[in-house]
Amino acid sequence: MNPFSYTRVTEVAEAVELISSDASARVVAGGTNLLDLMKEDVEQPGRLVDITHLPLGKIEGTARGGLRLGALATNTEVAYHPLVERRYPLLSKAILAGASAQLRNMASVGGNLLQRTRCMYFYDRAARCNKRVSGTGCSAINGLNRAHAILGTSEYCIATHPSDMCVALAALDAEILVTGAGGERSIPFGELHRLPGETPEIDTTLRRDELITAVELPPDGFATHHAYVKIRERASYAFALVSVAAVLRLEEGSIAEVRIALGGVAHKPWRDRQVEALLHGRRATPESFRAAAEAMLRDARGFGHNDFKIELAKRAIVRALTQASGAAA
Ligand code: SF4
Repeated sequence: MNPFSYTRVTEVAEAVELISSDASARVVAGGTNLLDLMKEDVEQPGRLVDITHLPLGKIEGTARGGLRLGALATNTEVAYHPLVERRYPLLSKAILAGASAQLRNMASVGGNLLQRTRCMYFYDRAARCNKRVSGTGCSAINGLNRAHAILGTSEYCIATHPSDMCVALAALDAEILVTGAGGERSIPFGELHRLPGETPEIDTTLRRDELITAVELPPDGFATHHAYVKIRERASYAFALVSVAAVLRLEEGSIAEVRIALGGVAHKPWRDRQVEALLHGRRATPESFRAAAEAMLRDARGFGHNDFKIELAKRAIVRALTQASGAAA
């Protein structure tokens, strides 16, 4: 363990000042990922900025009819909040499909967004890993890559984003609210996480001086037609091999609106708006859903052990759309 200093802050401005003035500083809330990374020597912060005493835990309605989830609301608080259960059941189901009850009690909304990949080579300091040490190579590409990505990969990294919650937030078109040295801004959910490209060590578009303060959900939670399908190695407490968040709006059996987000297949929750547009106006049938699944995986590439994910993802998409289209309130 490396020595580090610890500061507990009580104001957002104080947290922003500390992280913008010290490149070695890391924000900690529930600590469910960062502390593991520190124990494994993957992360070596010079300073921990404890934000658990900031007033960012509220879940409340917004002026435009949506819902704001404070960055420090726990995953459990969000999943079981009456407004989330009633208006955004997709989000509730996705959260409850992830981790364990103990972890969900500690993990925060902001931390869930910023958790790092669970690629085993990333956690193994004896392995080559461009995400951990830039320029060292990627042990997964020719290694044990059963859990790795099939979409949006690069020759530098084939890791996946591990979150379930983020897959639902991608389908719901959430917005991320952040505060930095330059003030506040909001980031459309699809623009928060990055593909690996040549710089897999950078997970998100968040600037170093920025703190996530909340996630804002738009008014429409697609409570009537939604599904979260998670395929994993065991029934609980496992990351997704493939997951699908699907939401639909149907008009007389035809698809008026659809969103499909995939987890476990890429460095970020994966959406393809062209494929979604293809479904507009089509009947909600297994044939339409299979056509969408084929289109969504058209550029998928396996790396040996994870080749099976391509067909698995297609079938999971069809299952999720089938469930969502039949899920009458
Ligand atoms: Fe590292 Fe990414 Fe390769 Fe895993 S897939 S070893 S995280 S570079």
